Amino acid sequence: MSRKPELLGLDSDERSDALTAALAGWGEPSFRVRQIEEWVFAHRARDFAEMTNLPQALRERLDEAFSLTPLEAVYVARSEDGTIKHLWALDDGERVESVLIPTRERLTLCISSQAGCALGCRFCATGDFGFRRQLRAAEIVAQYRDSWRVAKEELGRSVSNVVFMGMGEPLANLDAVIRSLTVLHSDFGLGARRITVSTVGLVPGIRELARRPEQFELAVSLHAPAHDLRLELMPIEKRYPLPELFDALRQYQAKKNRRISLEYTLIDGVNDDPGLASVLADQVYGLTCFVNLIPFNPIPSRPEWRASPGRRIKEFSARLTERGVANAVRTPRGRDIAAACGQLRLAEEADAPA
Ligand code: SAH
Ligand code: SF4
Repeated sequence: MSRKPELLGLDSDERSDALTAALAGWGEPSFRVRQIEEWVFAHRARDFAEMTNLPQALRERLDEAFSLTPLEAVYVARSEDGTIKHLWALDDGERVESVLIPTRERLTLCISSQAGCALGCRFCATGDFGFRRQLRAAEIVAQYRDSWRVAKEELGRSVSNVVFMGMGEPLANLDAVIRSLTVLHSDFGLGARRITVSTVGLVPGIRELARRPEQFELAVSLHAPAHDLRLELMPIEKRYPLPELFDALRQYQAKKNRRISLEYTLIDGVNDDPGLASVLADQVYGLTCFVNLIPFNPIPSRPEWRASPGRRIKEFSARLTERGVANAVRTPRGRDIAAACGQLRLAEEADAPA
């Protein structure tokens, strides 16, 4: 299928070249490039019709030649705690979700990098779903642009942070994700330290991120500090086992001099033994990291798995602290609207008539 060039998916040189050439062909002055970019990035326009200081005929020509990748919100869920979740329909009917998570200081947006995911982590609803397709850079950025508009309108706030923790594995869609990081950072002006890429631990992607000049934040889904247990939970452990993963993380840190976040979802009786906290402490020795302890969010395919009880989580956390590993227990947000990874889409499919 031939597709109109998507302004959100081009880097600044490509975009400027494409717009300059088109404007010249239509006999329009080149200062229009700046005007159009201001609409796209400062005003977060999602339709050329919004660009009211451009002549009507030009807006129509732009619409014929380029796409702003507007996403269609097919479902919106608002949690009691202020979390807003969107399910977006893409142009071929695939669906992805993003979640706005307000706190006092921040408004974090969690976005998807793939429709589905091929990596099959046993505790993850997106993993159950399987892989559908890669998102294009413009589709990743459009989740930000469209969520930003909702946040402004409903909450009167701007998105301050972006995390790649929705559906999919960002480092398995590396080109599009790097492109989207560049647009979010350079064109929308989000600070690199306000953008977090969360990965299951794809070593080549981590090494590539280490080579980038920007200081994006890195979070790694660990969930188990020992090979056998991690392999049970996460098939990726077979391809990139812990020693190789930690080797890449140490190299990343040597290059970036940044703290790395480790995500650890606590599942009752599966990976929450305090002894494992000690193993984890040994594992991260010499690495400056911060461990986020997240109570498991139950998923339909694993009815036997529950979140660890609060006291067990405290014990795990205390053991890490004793061993000098910085950590915090993260309160799940938006539980009443199934705001965890991939859950809304699954709920919707289950409800759909056969
Ligand atoms: N693929 C990337 C990013 C998306 S998942 C990754 O795996 O890091 C975002 C985070 O949600 C990951 O840390 C993942 O392990 C976690 N997660 C997935 N399913 C979960 C569940 N049922 N309960 C709690 N955390 C979950
Ligand atoms: Fe994919 Fe991340 Fe879910 Fe694993 S946790 S299946 S990598 S989305």
